[in-house]
Amino acid sequence: MKFISIQEALDKKEGKVSLRGWVYRERKQKEMAFIVMRDSSNIIQCVVKEDKVSKKEWEDANKILIESSLEIEGTLKEDKRAPTGYELQVSKLNVIHFAEKFPISKDHSPEFLLDVRHLSLRSRKLTNVLKVRSTVFKAIHDYFRSFGYYEYHSPCFTPNAAEGGSTLFKVDYFGKPIYLTQTWQLYAEAGIFALEKIYTIAPSFRSEKSKTSRHLTEYWHAEVETAWQHFPELLDLAEGLIKYIVKTVLKENKKELDILGRDTKKLEPIVKEKFPRITYKEALKILEQKAKIKIPYGKDLRTVEEDALSKLYNTPVFVTHYPKIIKAFYMKEDDKDKGAVLGSDLIATEGYGEIIGASERETDIKELEKKLKAQGEDPKKYGWYLDTRRYGSVPHAGFGLGVERVIAWVCGLDNIKDAIPFPRTMLRYQP
Ligand code: ATP
Ligand code: MG
Repeated sequence: MKFISIQEALDKKEGKVSLRGWVYRERKQKEMAFIVMRDSSNIIQCVVKEDKVSKKEWEDANKILIESSLEIEGTLKEDKRAPTGYELQVSKLNVIHFAEKFPISKDHSPEFLLDVRHLSLRSRKLTNVLKVRSTVFKAIHDYFRSFGYYEYHSPCFTPNAAEGGSTLFKVDYFGKPIYLTQTWQLYAEAGIFALEKIYTIAPSFRSEKSKTSRHLTEYWHAEVETAWQHFPELLDLAEGLIKYIVKTVLKENKKELDILGRDTKKLEPIVKEKFPRITYKEALKILEQKAKIKIPYGKDLRTVEEDALSKLYNTPVFVTHYPKIIKAFYMKEDDKDKGAVLGSDLIATEGYGEIIGASERETDIKELEKKLKAQGEDPKKYGWYLDTRRYGSVPHAGFGLGVERVIAWVCGLDNIKDAIPFPRTMLRYQP
């Protein structure tokens, strides 16, 4: 008989089926053994009765432990008490591998679960997060391609800093010090002269020394760069992407979000309502009036401020026009608001923090040199990058989205570490 998935069997509701998967839970009684089996699609309760199978099958059913792999044939029967509403009455049982005693049972600390991540990856929670993750990647590709963007790639080894020196990972490159990339940005700015509209989804590396629930040292970064684009259209593109991701996940992952316990009502306004756009100065005022938080002009918004702000809106909010002294050297100063940049952070709802950093890029080579020097960088080291302002410079803009931040937010996770299969942080680089 042809194997079908557990979900296909549940949809079929009745009849004889063949399934294969792993033991999720098991409980033995005198003449009956209950095996809850899982595969990538769902779980189903299977009941093995001593008088319905061979002697060997009955012995095997009594021997198997959690995570053993097996093939089962049986008849479906509706059963309201079973975890997914159906029970499989087993007529054939073939154990493929008898697992040793699985090291994970209930009530383990999060740190232990991370120590055995290669095994905890099979948990229902992570299985469902990984499905949402797959949808998010697909949505990003589909969105950009639907607007005629080309997928373009930048190197991971780089001689330059783009997001400030403090989070650079140094690598010994045949005796010379270079870095792991923090962003594709500088290379993307070179790429638009060939392709005009480009995007990528690739790992970025940042040696984050702070232990927060939203920073990884290796994360997947969806980035886009567009020639001829100005600030307002840049924000439109970013808003459209977030709406498209959330809409797609709501459509394709209802079941997963339900298993994860996500309140999807909170995600619905994101698809329907326009995201507010407020300036940094307005944000300071709002924080003072509505959250009683006073910040002096020129200080970056920290987690507490971003959280307080996000609680005031039921969609993400764009904070624009940050003071240029706290933002990257490549952001363009606003002609109409000197000292502020045409840059924006998009703050997610429910205290999930910044999910996108965006800006129109500085095109004036003199300005770029000045800002690099002000940040203690030697403009000579950026010679190749400055060439992009020497040969046919055009207005352009782009943004970067932290894919795990978006996954953690959409799934309602407590920590970004559960948004990626094998998280890397300051203290964790194994398994
Ligand atoms: P933060 O202030 O939260 O550290 P950032 O200003 O350093 O963010 P950008 O340099 O603008 O972030 O990077 C673009 C996006 O990449 C951010 O909006 C965020 O979604 C994501 N991101 C940045 N750093 C990390 C990290 N360490 N782990 C996961 N995602 C990150
Ligand atoms: Mg940072």
